[in-house]
Amino acid sequence: MSPARRCSRTACGRAAAATLTYVYSDQTAVLGPLAVYAEPHAYDLCEEHSGRLSAPRGWEVMRLAPDPDSLAPSSDDLLALADAVREAARPLPPPQVRPEVGTGSREVGRRGHLRVLKPVDD
Ligand SMILES: [Zn+2]
Repeated sequence: MSPARRCSRTACGRAAAATLTYVYSDQTAVLGPLAVYAEPHAYDLCEEHSGRLSAPRGWEVMRLAPDPDSLAPSSDDLLALADAVREAARPLPPPQVRPEVGTGSREVGRRGHLRVLKPVDD
């Protein structure tokens, strides 16, 4: 099955208890149940680190972890919201990945000399 997930904080080897997802476009960090698979803007955190989480200045933190003491919508709503937020985060292109241009790469196609041919109708 899936390997044990670990807290992503440096020097912390505890088992992950929650997943933190950053939504850069909304400046929102969503702390929710452990994500099923790794995502580019998601970080696994252990119970202790998720409890001590602090967001960057100007950011909002949404905690989706089930907490019986807090007045919160039903966990189904929150899970749906977490999924929606993760979906929203997904289309962002990874900023560090750029296609290599030139330098030894082979050319797949060249369009400069191609002409557009119209079908002859007669
Ligand atoms: Zn930790």
